[in-house]
Amino acid sequence: MKVHLKQIPPDGLHLEGEEDCLISDLESEGVRCAGPMQYKIDLGISDGSLWANGSLTQPVELTCVGCLEKFVHDIQVPAFAIHTELHGPETVDLSPFMREDLLLNLPAHPRCDREGGRVCKGAKLEAAPPVAKRKPDWSALDKLKLKK
Ligand SMILES: [Zn+2]
Repeated sequence: MKVHLKQIPPDGLHLEGEEDCLISDLESEGVRCAGPMQYKIDLGISDGSLWANGSLTQPVELTCVGCLEKFVHDIQVPAFAIHTELHGPETVDLSPFMREDLLLNLPAHPRCDREGGRVCKGAKLEAAPPVAKRKPDWSALDKLKLKK
């Protein structure tokens, strides 16, 4: 997501909209984009630096560590903020900054019930008592002994 510096007025710029998912390369790691990223940011230039702050939301499909079912989770970046020096180019790409913040807010051990919207089936399985150990079955051996 590139910003043209000339388009930023002296009193700042508010941007709001949707952008293609920035973490689509994580699919092999079980993180699948479930829609575009939504952003609301304010931008401005002061003293040769670009600042931006706002919020990002990226819906992704994750696999629950409890029940192994897929579920949709919104990665929320409630306080996206950058401050970067300007080195001459007339455009600044915000995507690497956004991507980094999304990755930081990605749950490491996603659970489908973490937001309380559903009950994880895996939680019940974990609570069930372990299967009783079977005693070794010697009956066949005993029969062999009897034949002697
Ligand atoms: Zn689950």
